[in-house]
Amino acid sequence: MEVWNKAAIAKHVWYLFSGGECSMWCQWVKSYLLKGKSFWGIKVPSDPSWVWRKLLSLRDLIFPLIKFKLGNGGNVFLWYDNWHPFGSLLLRYGPRILYDTNLLDSSKVSSIISNDSWNWPFPNSWEIQEWIAATPPSLKPSLDSPDIPVWSLTADGSFSIHSAWECWRDKGPKVTWSNLIWGPPVIPRVSFIVWLAIHERLNTGDRLQIFGLLTSPSCPLCCALEENHSHLFFRCHYSSRIWAVIQAKCNSHWPSLPWLELVEFATKSINGKSLKSVIMKLSFLCTIYHIWMERNSRIFSKVFKPEEVVTNSIIQMVRGRLLSMENVKAYAGDNWYLEQWNLPSKILLQSQTAAVERNLSGVSYPTLRVE
Ligand SMILES: [Zn+2]
Repeated sequence: MEVWNKAAIAKHVWYLFSGGECSMWCQWVKSYLLKGKSFWGIKVPSDPSWVWRKLLSLRDLIFPLIKFKLGNGGNVFLWYDNWHPFGSLLLRYGPRILYDTNLLDSSKVSSIISNDSWNWPFPNSWEIQEWIAATPPSLKPSLDSPDIPVWSLTADGSFSIHSAWECWRDKGPKVTWSNLIWGPPVIPRVSFIVWLAIHERLNTGDRLQIFGLLTSPSCPLCCALEENHSHLFFRCHYSSRIWAVIQAKCNSHWPSLPWLELVEFATKSINGKSLKSVIMKLSFLCTIYHIWMERNSRIFSKVFKPEEVVTNSIIQMVRGRLLSMENVKAYAGDNWYLEQWNLPSKILLQSQTAAVERNLSGVSYPTLRVE
């Protein structure tokens, strides 16, 4: 399974533990599949749906990442959930601990809490003694507080697909996208939107629905069923057509990838300070920006622009930024870009421009590709 898919599936598992009450899907899973049992302990049914099978198959991978900040213990499975430094107590001690403690498989942590303090089972085995001894004094129940699930990969404990992806992906040389969005030339308002997008913090339909702010998460650009970051950039029919035109103007053709992999691809592909790199970078960022703006305008102002208009806005924005540049290092093939984007050659480093023009006179322009 692709790492990105695993991360997307982890999101659903996370919903089961956090605020999933408001989602129909979570309610359905809890009522019909879990039936009061722990997600971590449930057996794989003989005829699971594809999605449910995938969720269950990733349990070992996801379990260490979802922890609980203990409150009253009413929502935390005593033997299964990750609330104690030992992790799953059932995994550590085996099913005999149920007999030793005389507690049920489905017991919650609240069953060993009495009046804001621990009410430990009678320590009649070394396992129970060890468990009690290993419980740090700071780990105390609190009757007035709810149990809070914590995603252990982020500073604020909330889930992000990016964090899961970052955790599981094959760590090659570190990919830093910061230069892609904050390195020159920058258009701050564009970089900010792309920065949000990279953190998957744009309020796309899927996110709004989680917050209960939107009843339909469908894409306002193409009316497809689910609007999320990968769909908008650029699997959506509307945005993919815009992106195709922009790529053609950059003389490049990128693969269709899930959003975060696309960002990684962009980071690796766009490097250097050549005119071609600068144009590709600005085009990528401005396309994301304008698609997001168009999407918002459709939702909030009910103004719908055809894709040609949005494409033209992207081109004008990229060109506007390029016109304010100077001393871009000149390379063979630059003339194609100057012509394509209607740019004066004075933006190129002057001493080299003459040489490039000399070399290229009478020569047909080479075809360059990003890959
Ligand atoms: Zn769409």
